[in-house]
Amino acid sequence: MPMIATELQENASRYLMNTYSRLPLTLERGQGCLVYDAEGREYLDCVAGIAVNILGHAHPDIVEAITRQARQLIHTSNLFYTEPQTRLAERLITHSFADKVFFCNSGTEANEAAIKLARRYSIKTFNPERTEILTMLNSFHGRTLASLTATGQPALQKGFGPMVPGFRYVPFNDLEALEASLTPQTAAIMLEPIQAEGGVVVPDIDYLKNLRKLCTERQILLIFDEVQTGMGRTGTLFAYEQFNMQPDIMTLAKGLGGGIPIGACLASDAVAAAFEPGTHASTFGGNPLACAAALKVLDLLLEGGKLEQGRTAGHYLAKGFGILSERFSCIREARGMGLLQGLDLSIDGKPLVMECLERRVLINCTMGHVLRFVPPFIISHSQIDRLLTVLSDVFSKRA
Ligand SMILES: *Cc1c(COP(=O)(O)O)cnc(C)c1O
Repeated sequence: MPMIATELQENASRYLMNTYSRLPLTLERGQGCLVYDAEGREYLDCVAGIAVNILGHAHPDIVEAITRQARQLIHTSNLFYTEPQTRLAERLITHSFADKVFFCNSGTEANEAAIKLARRYSIKTFNPERTEILTMLNSFHGRTLASLTATGQPALQKGFGPMVPGFRYVPFNDLEALEASLTPQTAAIMLEPIQAEGGVVVPDIDYLKNLRKLCTERQILLIFDEVQTGMGRTGTLFAYEQFNMQPDIMTLAKGLGGGIPIGACLASDAVAAAFEPGTHASTFGGNPLACAAALKVLDLLLEGGKLEQGRTAGHYLAKGFGILSERFSCIREARGMGLLQGLDLSIDGKPLVMECLERRVLINCTMGHVLRFVPPFIISHSQIDRLLTVLSDVFSKRA
C-alpha cells in the first residue's frame, strides 16, 4: 500500500534533515512537461527539477539510453577507461571553447573543481600567493564550503564558521568596481553569465566582453558558472555564445544529464594542464550511466531540434510576460533569456507560488520577489498559454 500523501509528508519531516522548505505536494510520476501527484492530479512543471529536466520527464530516448547502459555497465572506476565518458568529453569539446573536461556529479562539485584548477594554474604559472578569486554579490555557486564561499550571499554562509580564505566579492554588472578590486594576487574571476538564483539578472550587453578583455590583459582566469545557464537554457548551447566572448573555465551540471546527476568542469588545454594524476578525482564522476544520459541529451539538443524548440518557446514566453508586465503594476520587470525567465515583483512572490500550485502550475520564486520560470524546452505554446492564464488570474487578485 503506498503511503497517503499527508502521512508521507509527516514521515519526511520525521526522518529527513530539515534543510528544505517544501511545498505540500508529493510527486509520483512525470511525462513531458507534466507531473502527477499520488491522487493522479496533473501539474504543469515550470520548475523542472530547477532547470534540470530540460527535455521534460520520461523522455523515451533518454529512458532508452539509460536502460541500455544500465544493462551494460552502470559504474566502474576512473582507474579504467569507459567509452561513454570519452565520447561525452569529445562532444562537449566539439561544441564549446574548451579542450578538456573533468566530470563530477553536481554543480557545486563542478565549481569546486574549477576553483581548485584556477588556484593550481595560478600558483604554477605565477607564484604561490596568487590565489585570490573574485566573485559576485548575490551569486550562487553551491553549498559545499568553497562553492559556498564563492557564493556572494552572507545569509547562506552565516552560522558555518570560517569560510575558505581567498575570496572577495564585487557587485555584478559593474566593471569599474571589479577593476578597482583587482590586486596582483587575483588569480580568477568567477561568475554566472546570468545570475539565476540571484533573481534572473541579465548583465549589460558589453559587460562580459569587457570583462573578458580585462582578464586577458591582466592574465586573470575567467570562470563561468553555467550550471544553470548552460545546455541550451538561454537559447544557445552555452550562454557565453550570446555575449560574443569565451571564458577560460566553465562549469556545467543541472541540464547536462537530463535528470541523471552529472557535473562537468571544462577548460582550455593551457589551464587544464595544471591538473596532473592525483590532483583531483571523483568516484562517481563521469560514470557510464550518467554519461550515456548526457550523450543522449546532447543528441536531442543538437540533432533532435530541441535547442531550437527551447529558443522558440523562450521567445513566446518572453512575449507573454511582456504583455503581463504591461497589464499588472506589481510586475516591476520581465527579464531573462531563452527559457530562463523572471518576473521581478514589487510584492512578496512566495504566496503566488502557492496560488499557482493550487491552480496546478509549478513555479519557483528567488530572492523573495522574483518569480522564476525554467520549464523544459519541449513546453508547447498551449502549455505556455496555460501558465500565462494562471499567472494573470493570480495577479488580477492584487492589481
Ligand atoms: C544550482 C546551481 C549550482 C549548484 O548546483 P548543485 O548541483 O545543487 O550543487 C551552482 N551554480 C549555479 C549557477 C546553480 O544554478
